[in-house]
Order: sequence, then C-alpha cells, then structure tokens
Amino acid sequence: MKDKSGHSWAEPYKIKMVELLRMTTREEREAAIREAGYNTFLLRSRDVYIDLLTDSGTSAMSDRQWAGLMMGDEAYAGSENYYNLEAAVQEYYGYKYLVPTHQGRGAEHLMSQIMIREGDYIPGNMYFTTTRLHQELAGGCFVDVIVDEAHDPGSDHPFKGNVDLAKLEKLVQEVGADHIPYISLEGCVNMAGGQPFSMANLKELNAYCKKHGIPIMLDATRTIENAWFIRRREEGYAEKSIREILREICDLTDGCTMSAKKDLLVNIGGFFACNDEELFLKAQNMVVVYEGLHTYGGLAGRDMEAMAQGLREAVMQEHQDARIGQVRYLGVHLRKAGVPIVRPIGSHAIFLDAKTFLPHLDQDQFPAQTLAAELYLEAGIRSMERGNVSAGRDPETGKNRKPALELVRLTLPRRVYTQAHMDVVVEAVAGVYERRETIQGLKMVYEPEYLRFFQARFEPLQ
Ligand SMILES: *Cc1c(COP(=O)(O)O)cnc(C)c1O
Repeated sequence: MKDKSGHSWAEPYKIKMVELLRMTTREEREAAIREAGYNTFLLRSRDVYIDLLTDSGTSAMSDRQWAGLMMGDEAYAGSENYYNLEAAVQEYYGYKYLVPTHQGRGAEHLMSQIMIREGDYIPGNMYFTTTRLHQELAGGCFVDVIVDEAHDPGSDHPFKGNVDLAKLEKLVQEVGADHIPYISLEGCVNMAGGQPFSMANLKELNAYCKKHGIPIMLDATRTIENAWFIRRREEGYAEKSIREILREICDLTDGCTMSAKKDLLVNIGGFFACNDEELFLKAQNMVVVYEGLHTYGGLAGRDMEAMAQGLREAVMQEHQDARIGQVRYLGVHLRKAGVPIVRPIGSHAIFLDAKTFLPHLDQDQFPAQTLAAELYLEAGIRSMERGNVSAGRDPETGKNRKPALELVRLTLPRRVYTQAHMDVVVEAVAGVYERRETIQGLKMVYEPEYLRFFQARFEPLQ
C-alpha cells in the first residue's frame, strides 16, 4: 500500500513481546458458537484465532505506556497522573476542564443526566448504541441528522459523517431550540462505517448552533482518526498536522465525551471535558456518585498515565498512516475478492454489507448476525453484528428498528495484527462468500432488555 508520494507505509514500531494464539478445529468452533448462542460477544476469547470484535480497549500499548503504568500514583485524591492527563487533554484537545471516567459510557451517563431534561431532543450524526441509550434513560429522544449518503453503503461520499443542516433546521423548527440541550457530533461515525465529517461541515454547524444557542458536544472517541481524513481529503488541510486539525475541531465545539479505549491506545479509560465552568462543576460533582473521586473517575492512577502517553502517540502522523493504512489494506483486498463492503473504506473497520452478501435472508432472520457466526465457523475470526440486532426495538412501537444498514464489522485493534493476519481474514471472508447461497438465517431465542446485541442468543432456522 503506497502513500501519496508513492512510498509503502510500514508500522512505525517493532515488536518487543508477543502473545501466542490458539488454533481450533472446525468441530471445536461448531461447539463453541453453539454454546455462545450464535452471538460472537458470548464466545470465549480462547476460542478465537483473529479477534476483530472491536477496537475498544484491544490496542497494544507501547513501551512508554507500559513504563507509565509503573509511574502510577495511586493516591485516592490528587494523583499526579490526573494532572498529567489534564495537561495532555488541555494541550491536544484544548478543553479547559476534565472529568475522568472509567470508559466512554461513564462520560455519556454524566453528560446525559446533567444536560438532558425530560422531553428533550438530541440530534446527532447517527446514533451510537450506548450514547442513545443514555440519552433515552435521561428522558431524551435521539434524532438522526446525518446526511442521507451515510445510510447508503454504495455511496462514495468522502464525508459521510457530515451533519445535514436542513434536517437539523427542521428539528429546530418543530421542537424549538429550547428543547435541544446540545447536538451530539461523532468523529469517524462508527455505525456508518467509520466515516468522517469535514471541517467545512463543522464550521457551518458551529455557525448555525451559535445562532440558536445550541452547544456542540463531540463524541471524541475517534476524532484523531477523523482529523487524519480531513488532512487527506479536504482542500486546504494537506499541510496541517493531525494535531493542528484536532485542535481546530475541538475549538469549534463546546465539550466532549471520550472513550479512550479507541483513539488513545489504552485498555480502559475515558473522560468528559468541556469549557463551561458550571457544566464542569456539575459533572465533577456527579462523577463522585457513579465513578469515583473527580481526580480518578473509576480509573487507577496508572491508567490515566497510560492514557496521557497514548494521546501523545495517537496524534503522530506515522501512527495514523499505519493504523488507517492497515484498514485500507484489508478493505482493498476484500473488494478485489468481490465481497460487498461499505464504501468508502473508513477509519477503524471494514463493514461487510450483509444485505447484499446474503440477499436471500429476510432482515428478521438477522443476516449480519448469521454472517458473523459463519465467519467464526470458517476460520475462528470474530466479528460483530451492526444491524437489526444492534439497532434494537423502537420504544414506541416495540418493533425491530430494521435499520437501512445491515452490517458485519471487522474491527482492527491498533498495533496488534500483522498484514499476514489480514491476508488470512481476506481468504476466510472470500470462503464464506463462495458458499453464501447455502447459508441459513437465525432466530432469536433470548432477548435482554438493554443493548440486546451484547447478550442475545440465537438458534439456526432450519
Ligand atoms: C465505544 C464507543 C462509545 C462508548 O465507549 P465505551 O468506552 O465502550 O463505554 C461511545 N461512542 C462511540 C462512537 C464509541 O465507539
């Protein structure tokens, strides 16, 4: 894979320690997936060969991050690592105030409870599972305002994460800006296939929101990756650094929630950050109820140190070139094999288009769930459903939401797998694709109340 100047990229690190993988037989995998109720979330990690379930908390830390663990100041209050993290967040993201949380949803919980009142509407550039649930639990209602192209897996729009200002304006007209506590803006939109928003779109959004007094709260989880796409694709940004672009994004927003388990290369961690002092004081007070004292928020001191160092590494150009380059490598080769994937190739994962892959299955036979189970059976590769199961039921009608996108996500942990692993994944997906017509769907036999995709169980239909 070549960069713009025609050079191949390579990993900007060498490997110091390895973790051995266990190979399984087809019979062992058949037993394992049956035991797991055909839900890849319920598989045991030891039964998985290449784990592409998620990029959340699965990255490889650097020697410097591991060294940071040894620098953990495990004081209950006022840990030195908290101040190091605060300084790093202020420097790279630019927000004034920081409240650490154990992970992203901890921050979402605080922000939703503080900012949303019963009956409010929260527009966003596509939902995210935990984000929307916390909005709903706080009495709010999520409204999708992403551009239409984001719902079309065949569209090559370079910024499918953009907000459709007309959709936002329609909502403001209908419910009034008073009932919109903030707009939730996600970078490299996960559920759309890791698709970025453009700086031009954010500038327009910022101008619109200023006019109506609506804060922009960033879901900063993959915003550094979003900055990489702006640099690559948007006019006028080729000469700017990822660091500068990240800062420009944050300066156009009012605060953020963060799952540091993604961009920031740590196994656990998150935070809420903002510029408004009143909001900060509320979050700082609430965190002691749900997470821990405001200088550790459910984390060990060492976790905060690893996060601060991870942030310094995440903004490095060569890191993101390799990270996103590896995702591209996988996507390009799958496309060459004729496999239908979401276009264009996004930041953190390849999304197989299960509706096109298994056109003979009805959406209520869970084509994406079925495909994820088949891929595990084929080669021990673990992926994740992002379709009808993840979307859940409409709270009003109780019916399956049946989203336009029915996807299987092959998510790449950062700095973990090699290019040879990617070749194995391509061969396995191509193998399932070849026998696709023989594949039967699933029926759901156990459905938990919240975030059902994590724990639902299935059985084969035939
Ligand atoms: C992972 C994720 C979250 C939730 O963060 P956790 O650390 O898993 O709690 C929120 N938003 C987005 C976009 C995510 O990818």
